Amino acid sequence: MDKIFSTLSERLKERQIVPYYAETKEDALTTVLSIIEAEREKKGKSEKEMLISFGGSRTLSEIDVYSHIERYNVLDPYVSKDRKEQYEAKRRALLSDVFLMSANAICESGEIVNIDGNGNRLGALIFGPDTVIMVIGKNKLVKDKNEAIVRIKTVACPRNASRLSRKTPCAEKGKCESCLIPSQTICGHTVYTRYSAIPERIRVVLVNENLGF
Ligand code: SF4
Repeated sequence: MDKIFSTLSERLKERQIVPYYAETKEDALTTVLSIIEAEREKKGKSEKEMLISFGGSRTLSEIDVYSHIERYNVLDPYVSKDRKEQYEAKRRALLSDVFLMSANAICESGEIVNIDGNGNRLGALIFGPDTVIMVIGKNKLVKDKNEAIVRIKTVACPRNASRLSRKTPCAEKGKCESCLIPSQTICGHTVYTRYSAIPERIRVVLVNENLGF
C-alpha cells in the first residue's frame, strides 16, 4: 500500500470511519461484498431480509457491484421512471441495512466532500442506513477542501450534468457559474463528512485505480 493510502487510513480511523484498501476494482468488489456479508451475519438476517440500496454512482457501476448483490433485497431508487415512485424509493432507501455510494472527493485529512442535487444520497450518508459503504478511486484524492470543491465543480459536476442531460453552464461551457436553474442544477447540497458519530457506521474502500468522476 502506498504511504498516501496508509496515512489516509489512519486519518479515517481518527474520524471513526473504517478504512479498507483495494488494489484493483475487482478487489474493491470483493471487499464490498464481504462487508455486506459480515453485516448480514452480525444482524442474523437472511439474504432476502438485508435491504441494500445505493446512490447514483459511476464508480459502483465500474466495480460491477449491481450484478453481484441480486441475492439481497435490493432497492434500486432509479429503476422507476415515475418521479413519484422514484421519490418514495429514495425515502425508503434511508432505512436500508447497507447503503452503497462513492464520494466526489476525499481530502488527505480524511474529510470527505460531496455535492448532491436532491440530497437523497447525502441524506443516507448522514443518517438512516445502518452501514454506509463508500467506494473511492484514487482520482478523487485531493489535498484539502478547497481542492475538493475545485475538483467537484470542474470535473465531477460537468460530467454528471452531461450524463443527466442537464442544461447547465458546467455541462455546456465547462465552467461553473453557480447556476440556480430550476430542474437543471445538480448542486443542491454540499456535505463535508469529518466524523462519524456512530463508530464504524461509515466504511471507506480506497481503491488504487481511477474510478468514476
Ligand atoms: S452550480 Fe450549476 S454550473 Fe456550477 S457546477 Fe453546479 S450545476 Fe454546474
